[in-house]
Amino acid sequence: MELSLLIPIFLGLLAGGLINYLADVLPHTLRLSTTNGFARPLCLNPECKAPFRWTDTLLLRRCPKCGHGRSLRTYATLVLAEALSLFIWFSPPHTLGYALGLVVLTYLLLVTVIDLEHRLILRPLSLAGLILAALAGIYVRGWQSTLIGGAAGFGIMFVFYLFGRLFTRWRLRRLGKVNDNEEALGSGDVTLATILGLLLGWPLIWFGLLLGILFSGAIGLIIILVLLLTRRYKTQALNVFIPYGPFFILSTFLLIYAPMWMSSLVQK
Ligand SMILES: [Zn+2]
Repeated sequence: MELSLLIPIFLGLLAGGLINYLADVLPHTLRLSTTNGFARPLCLNPECKAPFRWTDTLLLRRCPKCGHGRSLRTYATLVLAEALSLFIWFSPPHTLGYALGLVVLTYLLLVTVIDLEHRLILRPLSLAGLILAALAGIYVRGWQSTLIGGAAGFGIMFVFYLFGRLFTRWRLRRLGKVNDNEEALGSGDVTLATILGLLLGWPLIWFGLLLGILFSGAIGLIIILVLLLTRRYKTQALNVFIPYGPFFILSTFLLIYAPMWMSSLVQK
């Protein structure tokens, strides 16, 4: 084995560990603002919730109090971050390069994990993303395409957001409810589209958002088919919500990190 391979292996683990830590801690500390120094992740067992010691956190040990294991996500994130770190080490995105590529990737994975687990795009994290994406975008292709990309991402998603609100109102009337806090598209998705717009630039953001909508539409179709097949369509169809964020992130990831796959797809 080449010694230089230790770099992406180590940095991949570091990125995965960081994502796990922040995804465990941020949704609670940012909302409740109870940070005293560095917050520690809590045990997942709702009856225990003991804070983990740093060594236990790092070594992925079980909870010393109740013996509850670590979440499946903890391991999945580590494996994924490791695999992606090696992937971009061997075929770095020619625009970003390995190091900046890994930083952006770490951010995108973190947002995905938190969105999937909490259906939430945290505001401070969005702000950090806007800055990171603007800097990365300007570094790669100058400020013009970057800023237009960001504005386009915002504008396109804002229109969808307005349509989503109309749908939400229609849905609540159909269900005879006043409000159940379910939104077709959250305002966080608008911010996310702005971040991805800065990253992809104009005109690629167009394609990125279109691809994301196609991905989520495909998953939506599968869910509706399953509901139809299991005869739960009438009761469940209006209660199915698909988070859009992860699909937009997936399409952005493919466009930045695997453009060769994407262009071969388009040319066929
Ligand atoms: Zn415990």
